[in-house]
Amino acid sequence: EAKRDGRNDFHFFSKQIQQKAMVRHRLETNMQRALRLEEFHLVYQPQVNLCSGQIVGVEALVRWQSDNLGIIPPCEFIPIAEETGLIRPLGEWILRTACQQAVTWQHTNHPPLRLAINLSVCQLGQPNLVELIVKILRETGLPPQLLELEITESVFMKQKESATLILGQLQQLGIQIAIDDFGTGYSSLSYLKNVPIDRIKIAQEFVRDIPEDPDDVAIVQAIIAMTSRLGLKQIAEGVETIDQLDFLRQHGCHDMQGYYFAKPMRAKQLMDFLSKAATENLNTLVEGNYPAP
Ligand code: C2E
Ligand code: MG
Ligand code: MG
Ligand code: MG
Repeated sequence: EAKRDGRNDFHFFSKQIQQKAMVRHRLETNMQRALRLEEFHLVYQPQVNLCSGQIVGVEALVRWQSDNLGIIPPCEFIPIAEETGLIRPLGEWILRTACQQAVTWQHTNHPPLRLAINLSVCQLGQPNLVELIVKILRETGLPPQLLELEITESVFMKQKESATLILGQLQQLGIQIAIDDFGTGYSSLSYLKNVPIDRIKIAQEFVRDIPEDPDDVAIVQAIIAMTSRLGLKQIAEGVETIDQLDFLRQHGCHDMQGYYFAKPMRAKQLMDFLSKAATENLNTLVEGNYPAP
């Protein structure tokens, strides 16, 4: 196949690039419209403590249901929102909406929940980010201690100094910082020594094949051991099976999140889920029969 006609390859690829650019352009113009038309909404996925079985937090995840284009997954539109700068108004909408929502959960009989929100690297470069977050917390009345911001390691590759500064300011306010998809970025571990972090999220790609894959077993064990020694907490992402859950609990992982317990859901549905969890025996809520700790 190395002997294929180079010219045809060129035409093939240039056509692909053209098509990609068209799709991008269409997403971009539709996204601007979508913000005005309120086509975005948030879903929330519970996070569970592996010792108590209690729901201790939720992660907010954005969804786009476009009139023109149908359902578009965040892995497709977030990168374009980042490249076009639309992530700033969209990110602000996400922060405000999720915080507003989280305040209403504090009025249920469920114990306080932390709210985790994903921050894109671009947002961290936004000059007024700290002020914006302070303003949103003040407007909504959400205590900063209940807010957790998730960022990926990639932020420590290019903007390590400024990111460290901003994260420090956010932590000073009482906000918690989590590293999303821990271990999958290309950054060195050195940031763990001087960046203010509360929690790391063990990436789904390491969780997927435990306990069968010995490499993943070694990696997850080492991540938990190392980050515990550094005084950090862990939450495992993408937990889908009881075997994964048992392994994580046995190895001292603090929290977990994944389809085994619950999929991301609309605010209203989560509200029902929470009030049930607060009143009923939690074990009966858990698909697949979560064992008593
Ligand atoms: P993430 O922050 O690492 O989110 C975890 C993703 O894993 C979510 O996908 C979630 O629905 C999915 N997930 C959770 N449990 C399971 C499971 O047990 N099995 C499997 N297979 N998947 C599970 P989603 O919602 O499609 O989001 C994908 C990515 O898009 C997120 O990864 C995050 O990087 C980005 N994203 C989503 N919402 C936002 C947002 O509000 N702001 C920003 N900046 N990025 C967002
Ligand atoms: Mg996340
Ligand atoms: Mg993740
Ligand atoms: Mg593997």
